[in-house]
Amino acid sequence: MHSAAAPVTGAAEAVTRFLAEPRTMFIGGHWVGALSGRSFASVDPATGTVLTAVPDGDAADIDRAVQAARRAFDDAGWRRMSPLDRGALLNRIADVIEAHAEELALLESHDNGKPVSVARAVDVGTSVKLFRYFAGWPSKLEGSTIPVSPRDGLRVLNYTTRQPVGVAGLIVPWNFPVSMACWKLAPALATGCTVVLKPAEETPLSTLRLAELLQEAGVPDGVVNVVTGRGATAGAALAAHDGVDKIAFTGSTETGRAVVRAAAGNLKKVSLELGGKSPNIVLPDADPQAVAEAAAQAVFFNQGQVCTAGSRLYVHRKIFDEVLDAVTERARGIVVGPGSDPATEMGPLVSARHHERVTGFIDAGREQGARLAAGGGRPDLGAPYDGGYFVQPTVFVAPDDGLRIVQEEIFGPVLAAMSWDDVDDLVERANDSPFGLSAGIWTSDLGHAHRIADELQAGTVWINCYNLTDPASPFGGFKQSGWGREMGRTVLDLYTEVKSVWVNLS
Ligand code: NAD
Repeated sequence: MHSAAAPVTGAAEAVTRFLAEPRTMFIGGHWVGALSGRSFASVDPATGTVLTAVPDGDAADIDRAVQAARRAFDDAGWRRMSPLDRGALLNRIADVIEAHAEELALLESHDNGKPVSVARAVDVGTSVKLFRYFAGWPSKLEGSTIPVSPRDGLRVLNYTTRQPVGVAGLIVPWNFPVSMACWKLAPALATGCTVVLKPAEETPLSTLRLAELLQEAGVPDGVVNVVTGRGATAGAALAAHDGVDKIAFTGSTETGRAVVRAAAGNLKKVSLELGGKSPNIVLPDADPQAVAEAAAQAVFFNQGQVCTAGSRLYVHRKIFDEVLDAVTERARGIVVGPGSDPATEMGPLVSARHHERVTGFIDAGREQGARLAAGGGRPDLGAPYDGGYFVQPTVFVAPDDGLRIVQEEIFGPVLAAMSWDDVDDLVERANDSPFGLSAGIWTSDLGHAHRIADELQAGTVWINCYNLTDPASPFGGFKQSGWGREMGRTVLDLYTEVKSVWVNLS
């Protein structure tokens, strides 16, 4: 965790201008309010004050956006755009995001609460990389020729092509708002889909600014539509809409289930990136000090609001005390403050509702007999941050794996540390979860690490590192952590249909 450079003034002025008036949303190339005329506030989580208002879009607005996306999908200009032109468009999008990186980072930090340094490097940096990576794919969406064995000596040619799935509904969460949008947008545009994107109600602002930048980069009207609105209204309407061919959802496992039920009407394709409760495993031969720093980063990064947060720390008994002491010391030393302060390492949680949820888990940890080693309270930051949604980095030692803080996704800066003796037992404990998103292993014996990695039920395993992702590498979950894989070449399957064409050559 490191501090940021001072914000660039021009970017700060651009953000002030952006926040100075209520925002509109983006449908069919037009900036519009909700048909109902309603709006809701987007709030600064560091102070609890209103940043600006956004349209409270609902089913009627979603319908308008889906129709715009359908028209754009049917338009020959988008459909028949050459692969190289499509790739060039994606590269232009990357250029425009890069040119406005500082402004997007400041806006993201205001709306989400995260340190500007994180917004700059992770949220915006990843978004640029995603468009650059996927810019190379339109010209490589190849089919195959298949050596088939037809009856009666017929001579046939059988080949496959890949075609865009159609109108994609993208529903994204608030923890990495702009980059979660780009995780889905970049492959959707690379494959020739059109989209209706619904940002989380807690963090709509960077996505609205992104839509302006997409327009500036030359994305045709209706290809990308953004509807701001709440999950129960706009999100549910998008998941259920018969004009949508595919839903890509990131968020909680519970909402993922609701999305699947809603999608059943027209059996639209569904991909899901859901929750996690990732085990971070320390073997007895690991360096305790280095592991402690990495383990703290694994769970406290982004205020712990990361689906892959290493929230279950399993340390071999031989070095448990040493690692725990060092993690505890690191947790106590983390600078908590507003995301706008360059010294801040950890910002506030995203919302009052989420703050209540996370502190509820901390209470449950105490009540169920976990030993509090660090944090557990609210940092005293003084005005104007008394109204902010801050919580201290918290470390518990859990007496057993049955506690709620060990079983359930907290999505906050709360670590449960446990010791282990036998590696087979450890693997069983690590896998004893409905989730299967990710895991970490720390050791100097790489052979042992590979053997454990092979046993873990997780979509991603990090060995002697944590939270590394890349647009070229697939990401997703086993078990109830999701359906499908985002990023890498595998995500292209989620946005395309394969067509098999038979030609009689006889
Ligand atoms: P959520 O899953 O409810 O929200 C994620 C997105 O889904 C938002 O855009 C929301 O508006 C939308 N949504 C909500 N209800 C919907 C519905 N019925 N149909 C369609 N879309 C809907 O998450 P949350 O309530 O903001 O957070 C609750 C918990 O979810 C967190 O505490 C955390 O455990 C988990 N979470 C996980 C991730 C992740 O990346 N895996 C991200 C955010 C939250």
